Amino acid sequence: MSNSDVAKCPKNPIPEYAFIGRSNVGKSSLINMLTQRKSLAKTSGRPGKTQLINHFKINDEWFLVDLPGYGYARVSKSTKKVFQKFITEYFRKRKQLVCGFVLVDIRHEPQKIDLEFMQWLGENQIPFCIIFTKADKLRPSQIEKHIENYKAKLLEDVWEEMPQYFVTSASKAIGRDEVLEFIEQINQD
Ligand code: GDP
Repeated sequence: MSNSDVAKCPKNPIPEYAFIGRSNVGKSSLINMLTQRKSLAKTSGRPGKTQLINHFKINDEWFLVDLPGYGYARVSKSTKKVFQKFITEYFRKRKQLVCGFVLVDIRHEPQKIDLEFMQWLGENQIPFCIIFTKADKLRPSQIEKHIENYKAKLLEDVWEEMPQYFVTSASKAIGRDEVLEFIEQINQD
């Protein structure tokens, strides 16, 4: 089911897990890797495509929610940066939401918008994990270094500890079992 309105999202009371990140982070590829479908989520490369909240029901047990790439909304006559309203509404209002997965490209330095989004989630007490994507692009030693760097940045900001994180690659199917086991474990509890 696809929607741009939180009020019209499915009414099913099953748990849901939302995937979000900046455009091009590899979200569609990750979702296709997790679900082992070639094109369940449409790989983008096209900024500005319709912004929809996509619910995919997995094994009749949970919803995988594909949220659009986030960015700052333009608020007229204001210099304050805010995220698009339907994204913040989704996270604030969606009672079925168990955990958000914030995707970041493992190659990149921590980006302001990602850090601010995580901070916003924290302030609103919304549980989330970090998913590092495109791990195949780095050597293992570099992966460690980039994660340490990310952690240092988070701890330097507002966080007391590194949130739970996963290292993934859609091209090499890395991290699939870890993410799915994490979800299944919570669903069983
Ligand atoms: P989205 O905009 O976040 O949905 O990102 P896409 O899934 O469309 O991926 C953006 C680009 O990154 C595409 O060119 C993908 O082929 C590439 N990409 C996505 N995941 C991976 C990955 O795990 N490894 C590599 N090497 N490239 C990836």
